[in-house]
Amino acid sequence: MTDAALEALRAAVDAAGWIDDPTDMAPYLMEQRGRFSGGALAVVRPSTAEQVAAVVTAARQAGVQIVPQGGNTGLVGASMSYPGERAVVLSLQRMNRIRELDVLDYSATVEAGCILANVQKAAEDADRLFPLSLGSEGSCTIGGLLSTNAGGTMTIRYGNMRELILGIEAVLPDGRIWNGLRRLHKNNTGYDLKHLFIGGEGTLGIVTAAVLKLFPRPRQIETAFIAVPDPKAAIELLARLRAATGDQLSGFELIPRMLMDFALKHIEKVADPLGQAHPWYILAEASTGTEGDMLRGAIEQALGAAMEDGLVLDATLAASETQRGAFWFIREAIVQSQKFEGGSIKHDISVPVSRVADFIARASDAVKSAMPGIRPVPFGHVGDGNIHFNLTQPVGADQKAYMAEWERMNHVVHAVALDLGGSISAEHGIGRFKRDEMRQVKSPPELDMMLAIKAALDPEGLMNPHALLPGPNGDDPK
Ligand SMILES: Cc1cc2nc3c(=O)[nH]c(=O)nc-3n(C[C@H](O)[C@H](O)[C@H](O)COP(=O)(O)OP(=O)(O)OC[C@H]3O[C@@H](n4cnc5c(N)ncnc54)[C@H](O)[C@@H]3O)c2cc1C
Repeated sequence: MTDAALEALRAAVDAAGWIDDPTDMAPYLMEQRGRFSGGALAVVRPSTAEQVAAVVTAARQAGVQIVPQGGNTGLVGASMSYPGERAVVLSLQRMNRIRELDVLDYSATVEAGCILANVQKAAEDADRLFPLSLGSEGSCTIGGLLSTNAGGTMTIRYGNMRELILGIEAVLPDGRIWNGLRRLHKNNTGYDLKHLFIGGEGTLGIVTAAVLKLFPRPRQIETAFIAVPDPKAAIELLARLRAATGDQLSGFELIPRMLMDFALKHIEKVADPLGQAHPWYILAEASTGTEGDMLRGAIEQALGAAMEDGLVLDATLAASETQRGAFWFIREAIVQSQKFEGGSIKHDISVPVSRVADFIARASDAVKSAMPGIRPVPFGHVGDGNIHFNLTQPVGADQKAYMAEWERMNHVVHAVALDLGGSISAEHGIGRFKRDEMRQVKSPPELDMMLAIKAALDPEGLMNPHALLPGPNGDDPK
């Protein structure tokens, strides 16, 4: 790359927006789990949409790839440039202003680099709710959440990121700024182009701002920790609780006993809320905008009936905000605890809700025959059919040798999910991690439409070229 081209890129941002020192660049070039790393000429950190547009224009003229990055909390290597390529990482971290919050419109217009927890707090301060909630909320950004169409623990009630967006502003690969920051709930004027960017993983342009939907802040939240005999009973209970609460269920998380044991053993301050061990648990939460005991009464009644019918073994409702926090701490702890048991091969699959139990049974059998001693620990947002079907290594196995089995086990698990009409990526996206499987999971017409959109908007293929879409020959480097 010529000095002049590099200078043009550097001139597109202010001094604080350019990093080319290898030590300072390092955090932007390594994914959290350490599975993917990147290389780049520089990290650019524009502070306005105009600066983003100037970077894109300069990069295009110099034939430099752009890899957008938010909080770098993604789990599929999608915000990692590819080592050895002429690429810059474009970090949105400095674009972190809440431009406007309108209580009457129930909307917030925020820049792409806003951290999710800050947006939640701003909504709460205005007596509103922004309902997206996930483990990385202290560091992930609105741009990253939007570009991965993130889900989380409240998807069952409020939908994933796609359902929470009214409008976006984006810089297109040709350097133009598209201001689509509309606050309209109804707008039937043709293709709804914002949806191309939602879940687009930065392959079609750079999102610089978004209009988010807000909701009334709940006044009454009821949280239950429930023991169930098996996942089949859990899904039956889900249907009953949805009906009993008038669809006010906002969380429904599955926890297997093995993960409870891991958490009790390895994570301080975890306590089992129930008196004795049970095979499976559900952490369920419901909320309402009105105060009073009606919601709690409805849940208690439904749980009582479910207990009589053998669907529930034991249950307790949080008596205080502290106890509610302790229940959710278990949900966090089960994730952290897995690393103490050795290697963990991870899956983020979804199936129709009615097939969750079937999936868990079939996939568990399949992985156990593929590797005797393997320990499946399926958990997660089963209320919307999303299971993190993680596999802990056999006791005493060599961790490195076990982790080398990652792809083989992925194929076993994904085959079961696909057979049940499911998806190989429920909420984390495709990135560099699963792009080779795209030809398998998308039909030729579907993939052709995706590739045609990419070619139309980004003919030079400079926007995050190693994420999401398979290359023309399906043989791109990982
Ligand atoms: C502890 C933990 C828990 C998690 N839990 C969940 C969960 O429950 N549900 C869930 O869905 N996900 C979960 N995730 C993963 C989730 O994908 C990310 O947390 C989040 O969506 C990514 O946001 P980010 O700002 O870190 O984006 P990054 O990781 O920086 O980027 C993700 C993708 O978005 C693109 N991108 C980023 N910003 C922009 C932009 N402004 N314009 C265009 N493209 C952009 C990147 O190029 C990349 O393709 C979890 C991750 C962790 C570490």
